[in-house]
Amino acid sequence: MTDGVSQTIRMLEQSPAIDGQFSQFVESTDWQIVTQTHQAKTEQDVLRALTKSKLDVDDFAALISPAAEPYLLEMVTKSEQLTLQRFGNTLSLFAPLYLSNTCANECTYCGFSMSNAIKRLTLNESQIVKEVAAIKSKGFDHILLVTGETNKVSMPYFERMIPLIKPHFSQLSMEVQPLEMEEYKRLQGIGLDGVLVYQETYRRTTYLEHHLRGNKSNFNYRLDAPDRIGQAGIHKIGLGVLLGLEDWRTDSVMMAHHLRHLQKCYWRSRFSVAFPRIRPCEGGIVPKSVITDRQLVQLIAAWRLFDRDLEMSLSTRESPAFRHHAVRMGFTTMSAESKTQPGGYAEDSQEALEQFEISDERPVAEIMAMIREQGRDVVWKDWDPALSGAQ
Ligand code: SF4
Repeated sequence: MTDGVSQTIRMLEQSPAIDGQFSQFVESTDWQIVTQTHQAKTEQDVLRALTKSKLDVDDFAALISPAAEPYLLEMVTKSEQLTLQRFGNTLSLFAPLYLSNTCANECTYCGFSMSNAIKRLTLNESQIVKEVAAIKSKGFDHILLVTGETNKVSMPYFERMIPLIKPHFSQLSMEVQPLEMEEYKRLQGIGLDGVLVYQETYRRTTYLEHHLRGNKSNFNYRLDAPDRIGQAGIHKIGLGVLLGLEDWRTDSVMMAHHLRHLQKCYWRSRFSVAFPRIRPCEGGIVPKSVITDRQLVQLIAAWRLFDRDLEMSLSTRESPAFRHHAVRMGFTTMSAESKTQPGGYAEDSQEALEQFEISDERPVAEIMAMIREQGRDVVWKDWDPALSGAQ
């Protein structure tokens, strides 16, 4: 290893002083060197990480490295114990509500990409009321609003629709285009509790290969969105990478740095992570880096050991068999009976409007039975805005 590499690895190990926005850290960080940090991990590094109660990013890199593979059972057992201690015997369910599949971006992995010849739909007030009723009838109390990214579905639309939806749910989160800090503040004022902005990949060159047109191709604007969300004082900030676009280990280490940066700067907020794997979709791509089921289990356990307070979310992208086994590992929330096409709950449309194919299509009742079989209780409401003072 060269002196330059050793020096940069030491810099990364020392939990970098990241003031300002996270894009500054990414700009000054060499992707190859981050890759070498996890590739160079040894059994001793793994054993050290397993004995620590407060892990740093370097410990996390050890736990997701090949050197940790023989310790998978130990990691999963510890992850289960920590999750039980911190979150109790519960798992909360949420439903994504797709408000629009209109999108002005071109992302290689997404069925909503603007060049895909699918029927576009943006729900109006009466269609939203029907969707809300259908979702409520299944018992959900936590809703995630999802849209494509276009100027037509932006602040004026959100400010009209959120007041319609929020009274029916105790928790309302959004996964929409990145916004300005002031815009997040305005939405918080009408009921927004959480915002998810998945970076997809932290490697700029790869990011640009997959985000070909539209505002989403602005890497730094997306990268700094969680900072703007934190500055706006939003209660919950969600991070995510799309596993498969790049080396999944390096992307995960970068996301761990991102999490630590945000926790340091916006300590009043709570954080969640998700790590979807690429799923088939219209015009879909072949993953560059395949993460196996076993490696995904290792990654889940590593995240829980890295941060015991972190909310971790599992979507219906994963198969029923995987979700069955994953329930106990470290997850705190799970989507169920998701429809990824606008109007899908009320209409049950078979038309090709979906963002990606759902893998676990079981009804909520079956998911609940599966969760209970695994010894967990289902909770519909795990938080109330009144408890945080974030009104
Ligand atoms: S990933 Fe998001 S921004 Fe990209 S095409 Fe799909 S909906 Fe649009």
